[in-house]
Amino acid sequence: MNSGFPAGRVDLDRLRAGPVHWSGNLPAEPGAWGLDELGAADAPRLEYRAESGARGSVRVVGRLAATLRLECRRCLDEIQWPMEVAFDFRFDPAVKEWEEEAGVFSLDPDAASLDLVRPLREEWVLALPGYPVCRDGCRGLCAVCGADLNESDCGCTREQADHRWDVLRQVVWDGQPDAAKPDNED
Ligand SMILES: [Zn+2]
Ligand SMILES: [Zn+2]
Repeated sequence: MNSGFPAGRVDLDRLRAGPVHWSGNLPAEPGAWGLDELGAADAPRLEYRAESGARGSVRVVGRLAATLRLECRRCLDEIQWPMEVAFDFRFDPAVKEWEEEAGVFSLDPDAASLDLVRPLREEWVLALPGYPVCRDGCRGLCAVCGADLNESDCGCTREQADHRWDVLRQVVWDGQPDAAKPDNED
């Protein structure tokens, strides 16, 4: 039910006549949506319902779904990462820009339309996985020769180059001064 106006803008005049539904694929404007940075593998699907609320506010509830092209953090292979974000935004003329919080945005009372691009991008970035891996058991790349260890074991001696224990060593090291601190406070 595409009501005829661009995906990222809610026409506030039309909204006064009643709730607006929009559903469809986002237009191919990678620049505007930041889709090139996010590496969308296909046209993201957006659907929302917008309705007027009290005192000139607008509520927009919907979902944004896409498949992103990410890189496995261990072996650097490309991963197709399906992602879906459900959102519930309130745009409120009583909210100042510096009072914005999660899901609540200011709204210029004289504006002719509502911009969804920025709030949706924020939601999307928040939903990105911090450490994407192609599969649970991905063995990554050899730190010595760069071979993909999922394909074969290159035979390198990796004791020197294996940094996986560094975090643990650091934790133990950091813990020691406190644990061993002499009690001099007298
Ligand atoms: Zn991997
Ligand atoms: Zn190797």
